[in-house]
Amino acid sequence: MKHRVLMQIGLALILLFGLAGSAEAADKVKAVASFSILGDMIGQVGGDRVEVVTLVGPDGDAHVFSPTPADAKTLAGADVFFVNGLGFEGWLQRLEKASGFKGRLVTASDGVKPLTMEDEGHHHDGEEHADHADHAKGHDDDEDDEEDEEEEVPDPHAWQDLANGKIYVANIRDGLIEADPEGRAVYETNAAKYLEAIAKEAAAVRAALSALPEARRKIITSHDAFNYFGKAYGLEIIAPEGVSTESEASAQDVAKIIRQIKADKIPAVFVENIADRRLLDQIARETGAKIGGTLYSDALSGHDGPAPTYLDMFRHNVGALTAALSS
Ligand code: ZN
Repeated sequence: MKHRVLMQIGLALILLFGLAGSAEAADKVKAVASFSILGDMIGQVGGDRVEVVTLVGPDGDAHVFSPTPADAKTLAGADVFFVNGLGFEGWLQRLEKASGFKGRLVTASDGVKPLTMEDEGHHHDGEEHADHADHAKGHDDDEDDEEDEEEEVPDPHAWQDLANGKIYVANIRDGLIEADPEGRAVYETNAAKYLEAIAKEAAAVRAALSALPEARRKIITSHDAFNYFGKAYGLEIIAPEGVSTESEASAQDVAKIIRQIKADKIPAVFVENIADRRLLDQIARETGAKIGGTLYSDALSGHDGPAPTYLDMFRHNVGALTAALSS
């Protein structure tokens, strides 16, 4: 008898919460994130009120992403679309047009002071570039080769400095409040808590990396994703590829890096979760530098991986860096 009553209560609870859950799902704010790092940030700030779909998922490369008709359909049904900006999503306008998206576009990096790079970091004095047409891809108003030579492009990887991450979170909070004013208190509370966690992580990153010997604070990665990180936390990070993975490193770039590793006794090279590691394996072989592990640059890992959230990414990267560089 007692057992049956308990079962009935259990059933009633399941029904109650099940129904409440499905009713809520229909009311949720539909957010689309261009890539996984933003997806995590939106989830942290939006909590239960927001349903997040990420276009470029874990370990994905947003530089070379090619949106599908399904992505356009996803975006068409969204209330708010969060992008990094700074030229990261070269496919953005095409997708917006294809989807007929009528919602709110929020650029997470708004207000960040961008670092710039000379056109993909590939131009060296007096060198000719057979792959020049590739560099110009996506720049509709390229005038001619001579002018392009000096072009400065913004470095999009601003999230690799946690101080910029705080700007991203504030923009996400404000974007969600505009899309869903009733949720203001929730978004403000969640964002405040998250901003505090980011500040705490920034102090931990600084403490861990400042303990590294000065002479060992130089590493090699695949593409130039860590300029903001290096500048914020006192590391020199050199990459054979430019700020986009779209263009491959030239033989001259690779030869130059190999010379530099030998001359400066750079202790470690790091592979990236989004990039082909063959070039770095070759560089390690030719120089005797060790492979220091994998750094998460432009995407998080899956849930079971070592960097499923933005803050986990920093913990993992700093752990890999300190393990490889501390002795
Ligand atoms: Zn990148």
